[in-house]
Amino acid sequence: MKHFLTVFFFLLLSLSSHSQGLLQAKDYFTEQDSLRGSITPERAWWDLNFYDLKITIKPEDKFISGSNTIKYTVLEAQQILQIDLQPPLQIEKVTQDGEELVLRSNINAHFITLKKEQKKGDKNEITVYYSGTPRAAKNAPWDGGFSWKKDSNGKDFVATSCQGLGASVWWPNKDHMYDEVDSMAISVTVPKGLMDVSNGRLKSVEENETTTTYNWIVANPINNYGVNVNVGDYVHFGEKYPGEKGTLDMDYYVLKDNLEKAKEHFKDAPKMMKAFEYWFGPYPFYEDSFKLVEVPYLGMEHQSSVTYGNQFMKGYLGRDLSGTDWGLKFDYIIIHEAGHEWFANNITYKDIADMWIHESFTTYSENLFIDYYYGKEAAADYVIGTRKLIQNDRPIIGAYHVNNEGSSDMYFKGANVLHTLRHVVNDDEKWRSILRGLNKDFYHKTVTTAQIENYISKAAKIDLSAFFEQYLRTIKVPVLEYHYDGKELKYRYTHIVTGFAIPVSVSSAGKQLWITPTAEWKTSILKGDIATFKVDRNFYINQKEVAN
Ligand SMILES: [Zn+2]
Repeated sequence: MKHFLTVFFFLLLSLSSHSQGLLQAKDYFTEQDSLRGSITPERAWWDLNFYDLKITIKPEDKFISGSNTIKYTVLEAQQILQIDLQPPLQIEKVTQDGEELVLRSNINAHFITLKKEQKKGDKNEITVYYSGTPRAAKNAPWDGGFSWKKDSNGKDFVATSCQGLGASVWWPNKDHMYDEVDSMAISVTVPKGLMDVSNGRLKSVEENETTTTYNWIVANPINNYGVNVNVGDYVHFGEKYPGEKGTLDMDYYVLKDNLEKAKEHFKDAPKMMKAFEYWFGPYPFYEDSFKLVEVPYLGMEHQSSVTYGNQFMKGYLGRDLSGTDWGLKFDYIIIHEAGHEWFANNITYKDIADMWIHESFTTYSENLFIDYYYGKEAAADYVIGTRKLIQNDRPIIGAYHVNNEGSSDMYFKGANVLHTLRHVVNDDEKWRSILRGLNKDFYHKTVTTAQIENYISKAAKIDLSAFFEQYLRTIKVPVLEYHYDGKELKYRYTHIVTGFAIPVSVSSAGKQLWITPTAEWKTSILKGDIATFKVDRNFYINQKEVAN
C-alpha cells in the first residue's frame, strides 16, 4: 500500500508539473513555434563560435541588464540575422563594428539587418544590449525563467532554468539546439555578499563599489538551455576525483547553513562518477570541472554546473519512483541530472522532438547506477518498477521544427525500451561498448534520432529500425500471443508495426527459451506446464494466451 501511494503521489506531481510547461501536449503550432523550432534562413547562414555574455542581476527589483557579444563564421553570404529574446525583456540596441543596426522584431524573434557585407568564411561579431524584468519561473524547472527566492536567512537566492521555453527567456542568443557555441564567457554582476555560480570555471572575481562580478569561462561546446546563473549565499567545498581522463575537479556550492548536510549527502557524487564513467566513458567536460550547485527548485542538468534542489534526501524528494525501495539507495537528482552530462550535454538533440535522447538514456542511467553497486537483478527491479508510470498517451518523439517535445513517456517507457534493448543484444559487454561508443562517436555533438538508431543497429549488428519505430513513434505495446496444445507452442506478435520481430526470452516450468516471433504464427517445441509460461520480465512486451 505504501508503495502504491508513493507512486500515485509522484504521478500526480509529475503530471501537474508537466501539464504547465515542458512536455505538455499541443494540437496546433504557431508562427512563433516555427521561428523558435526551425533552422530559419536567417539562422542557417552563420555558424556560432563564441558568446561573451555579461549580465547584471538586481534581485531587489527583479531586474536584469547586460549584453551578449556573438562571434560567428559566415557560411553563406547573407545580410539578415535572427537573434531570439523573449519579452518582457527588450533589446536596447545591436551593434557591429561599433555601428548601430536596424532590427525588425516579431515577438521573440529579432531580425537584424547587417550593414557590413558578410562574406563566406569571414569571422564577424555583433553585440546585443538588453534589459528588463525577465519572466519569473512559474514552476521551475519545467515552466522556467528566473526563480527569485530567499534563503532561510532572508538572503537572495536566485536561479535560472529554461529547457523547452528557451534560453532566450533570459539572454539573447541563437535559440535553436542544432548549433552549439564552441565555448563561452559568462560574467555575472550581483550585489555584494552574494556569489554567482555559472558553468565552467571561475576565472576571476572583480570587486566593484556595491557589487561583485564573477567571470566564468566554459571551454567546451554548450547548449543554450545548459547555460545558467545561480546566485546565493554560497559556501564551497570540493574534491579531486581520479577519473578515466585524469584528475577531475568536483566542486560543490551550497547555502551556508547546509554545508555539513551536503558534505555527507554529496558522497553520492563521486559514486555517480565512478558508475557512469564505467558505463558511458570519461566524463565529457574535464576542462570545465564538475559542479553541484544548490538552487531553490528541484534541479536541472546545467552543463558542468548541475543544479540541485532535492533537499538532501534520498530518492525523488524522499520518495522512490519505482516502488521497490531501490530508488531510496541514491539521491535521484544527483544521479539523474548528472547522468545528463553524457546524454543531453555531451550528446545533444538537434531538435527537441528528439528529447528522448536526453531523457530515456538518463532515466535508464539510474538503473545502471543501481546495477554498478547492487547488481543486475536490483537494477531490473528498479527499471521494471517504473513501468506502472508509463501512460502510452502519445509517441515519445514529438513534432519536428516547431519546438515540440514528445510524451513524458520518454522517461519511464524510454528507460524500459533501452532495458529491453540490452536484453535483445544479450551481451552486456557489447551493450556497454555501445553506450561508451555513442559518447565517443558523438562527443560534443548535436544529433538526430536517426543517427542514434543507426549507430546502435550497426554496433549491435541487428536491424533495429522496426524496434525503434514501434516504441518511439507509436503508443502500441507489442503483445506476444501464444497457444499451447500440450506439445507445441504457437506464437506470434500483434499490436506491432510492420517488420517488428525482435527475439524474446520466454520461460516455462523454469526452462528458458529464445524465440523470434513475427506477425505470422510460428511453432516451437515446449515442455512443461503452460500455466507457468512467461515472457522474460526484462522485455517490455505484453503476453496473452489465446485459443487455437
Ligand atoms: Zn532528465
